[in-house]
Amino acid sequence: MAYELNKKIRDMTPYEPINGDYKIRLDANESFITPSEEMRSKIEKAVMEISFNRYPDPTATELCSAFADYYSVKPELVTAGNGSDELISVIMTSFLEKGDKIATLVPDFSMYAFYAELAEGEILKLSKNPDLSIDVDKVISDVKSNNIKLIIFSNPCNPTSTVMKKDDVRKLIESVDALVVLDEAYMDFSTESLLSEVERYDNLIILRTCSKAVGMAAIRLGFAIANVTLTNVLKAVKSPYNVNSVTQAIGKAILSDKDYLKAGIKRINASRDELYNDLKLIEKENPDEIKIISAEANFVYLKAQKTVQIFEYLMENSVVVRCFGEYLRITAGRNYENAEVIRLLKKFFKEQK
Ligand SMILES: *Cc1c(COP(=O)(O)O)cnc(C)c1O
Repeated sequence: MAYELNKKIRDMTPYEPINGDYKIRLDANESFITPSEEMRSKIEKAVMEISFNRYPDPTATELCSAFADYYSVKPELVTAGNGSDELISVIMTSFLEKGDKIATLVPDFSMYAFYAELAEGEILKLSKNPDLSIDVDKVISDVKSNNIKLIIFSNPCNPTSTVMKKDDVRKLIESVDALVVLDEAYMDFSTESLLSEVERYDNLIILRTCSKAVGMAAIRLGFAIANVTLTNVLKAVKSPYNVNSVTQAIGKAILSDKDYLKAGIKRINASRDELYNDLKLIEKENPDEIKIISAEANFVYLKAQKTVQIFEYLMENSVVVRCFGEYLRITAGRNYENAEVIRLLKKFFKEQK
């Protein structure tokens, strides 16, 4: 008898980001800001003070306090994770039982369906309006009529870069019995956060990450914020030493510096606005070719007639963006990076004529 892989993992393949030596990477929504000299020395000092022979603090107390202080939430409502990816996985495997139904919205972050499948949940994909906005009343009625146990979505949304208003999100949370997992990975770039109200709800977990606005994708650090009951469950079901001491020390150093973080977000928002405005001008000159959808996060989402050709043309010129069917997602980068994308797009459309 030979060993047989089970059905759910048999056809899985390792995650492969776009690999290669490209000059300009605007494909992963990372921050273009690297820590300043001053921040680097703070990090160095913090790392040197670690007791490397000891296990990390299982509840990452000081780190969660720094997060809580920066975002003005109570520290007892905060759980740290090895990236928000880990928290999504932990939530799916512990708050769901086999066969429970999960709702995701389409399009949205692909990892939700990935972890839901591993957790053996049954996934219901709810489509968005043709303009990619969300009909909250329809989502509420679908969640109710299908006996959904958990709904997860990103706000602002990756990849559409649109944001749902607070009132709509509140209405959803208040109208359903399901657990609502609200992924605010990009909310530092927008203004519709429910973080300050999280304690009011017994069915809400908000996710945050240090991979985008905080500019620390390398250290793998995310947070879940929820009322005390849900937080206690999260802390009980996560693996005890999920966030290593190096990440805890660096995360604490970064999150303790409010001015540094705010200045970074300001720069990224300015870059995003610049990219958006320049793309708008291209749209104006080529109305039959591209349509800008939205830019409420640190990236712009647009629809194009020749998506694949544009994607490949940029790649040939050492610029990587993301392609989703007839849409492109372009992360806001440094000034010269944005300028290069704009130059190439103008050239592309000129050559089409
Ligand atoms: C990038 C991103 C995250 C971040 O995941 P980490 O594991 O914290 O790096 C979470 N949610 C969405 C929607 C994202 O785009």
